[in-house]
Amino acid sequence: MKRCDVCNKTSLLPENLGKVNICKICFLKVNGPAWKYKKIESMYELEKYHEKAISSAQKNDFPKQVIDEINNYFSQKKSTMERCDACGEERLTIIKMNEAKICKKCYSKIESKEWKNKNYTSREQLDAEKNKIIQIAQKSNYPKEAIKFINDTFESKVENNWMYTIDGNAGQILKVYKDYFSINTTNEFDIDGIAEEYAIICSEDHPKKNNQFSKSDAQNIVKGMMGSTGGLVKDMLVAGISKKSLTSKGINAITNKFTSGIESTIINAVGNAYDETYPEKKDFKQHKGERVYKYTDFEILEFRDIGDDTLGYLKFQNQNTIKNSDYDVLYFYDCDAKDDIIKLMPKVYSYMKKKINKKEKETNKENNSKTETNNSAIIEDIKKFKELLDMGAITQEEYDKKKKQLLDL
Ligand SMILES: [Zn+2]
Ligand SMILES: [Zn+2]
Repeated sequence: MKRCDVCNKTSLLPENLGKVNICKICFLKVNGPAWKYKKIESMYELEKYHEKAISSAQKNDFPKQVIDEINNYFSQKKSTMERCDACGEERLTIIKMNEAKICKKCYSKIESKEWKNKNYTSREQLDAEKNKIIQIAQKSNYPKEAIKFINDTFESKVENNWMYTIDGNAGQILKVYKDYFSINTTNEFDIDGIAEEYAIICSEDHPKKNNQFSKSDAQNIVKGMMGSTGGLVKDMLVAGISKKSLTSKGINAITNKFTSGIESTIINAVGNAYDETYPEKKDFKQHKGERVYKYTDFEILEFRDIGDDTLGYLKFQNQNTIKNSDYDVLYFYDCDAKDDIIKLMPKVYSYMKKKINKKEKETNKENNSKTETNNSAIIEDIKKFKELLDMGAITQEEYDKKKKQLLDL
C-alpha cells in the first residue's frame, strides 16, 4: 500500500512515474493508461498526448512534482524517437538500412518479409520483384542508401550468373547458371516410380496414357474369346468344325484342349507381346546428390514438355556416348510441380539449348577430347569442395568462390 501523491489516499498498486505514485483514479484523470501502455509511434501523436495530459493535470490541481514527473516521462519518450529518412518524421521504431533510418510505417510499404524469404525460380522473376520493390521505395522517398540496401539484399540471395532454380516436384533440383548447371537428386527421387512413368511417356501410343486397356485387360479379352465357358473362339471353332461335318465327340475333344494347357500358353504370349510393345519400366542410371555439369559436356539436349503427361524431362547427351544410355543425364519434373515451374520449363530448355548449341559450334573448330577429361576432373574437385561445405569445413562463400574458380567463370 502506497499513498497517492495527488489525492493523498492509500492505494493498492498505484502507477509509478519517476519519484511519484499516482492512484488509478487520479491517473485516469490525465488519460494515463492510454499514453503509458500504448506504443506511440509518432512524435506528433506523443506531443498531443503530452499536451492533453498536462492541461488535465493542471485543471485537476495536480501538485507540481507530479506534473514535473509527467513532463519527464514524455521527454524521455521523445528522446528515444529518431527521424525517418523517408517521411522525415520523428518516430519510435526505426529500421536501419545501411546508414539510412526508416520508420516502421514507411518500411511496411515494401513488405520485406515476403520478398526476403522467397525462393526465386528465375533471374527474371527476381529482377521483376526487385524493380517493383525499388519503385515502391522510391515513391516512398527512401534515400539512396536504403535503395542500395534493397538492391544488395536481392543480390545477396543469388549466386553469380544464376539464371533459374527449378524444383520440378520429382525429387530433383535443377540450378541453371550462365556457364554451367547442377542437378541435385535428393532422396525424394523415386527411381522405380519414375522409370515406370518414363516408359509410359516414351511410348507415343502407350495405352496408359489414354486410359486404354492394360496388360491384364488385354489378357482378359483373349481369355474371354477362348474361355472354358464358351466365348468367341469357341463359337467360331464350333461353326468351322460344323462345316467340316465333324462329330460332336470331335468338337468336344478340341474345345477341351483349349480349356487345358493351350489357354495359359496363349495368355502368356499376349502378356509378353504387351510387355515388348509397352515395357513396364524404362531404366536409366541416376546419381544421387548434387552434380555440376558444364554445357560443353553435351551436344544434345532433348526436352519433353509435360503436356497432358504425368512427367516431363530434359535429357542431356554427349555425341561420344550417345549409344550408352548410362551416360544420359536426366532431369525429371512432375505434373504436380507448381504451375509457374511447368510454364517455365520450355524457357529453361531453350536457354540451355542455346548454350549447348553454342558449344557445338565452338568445339567443331577444335579437338575437345582434352577439355572433356579436364571437365570430369573439375567436377570431382567441385564435389570435394561441396563435401567440405556440407561438413562445415568451409563457408558457403569460400565454396562459391572455389566453384567459380574451377569453372573458370
Ligand atoms: Zn489519487
Ligand atoms: Zn517514415
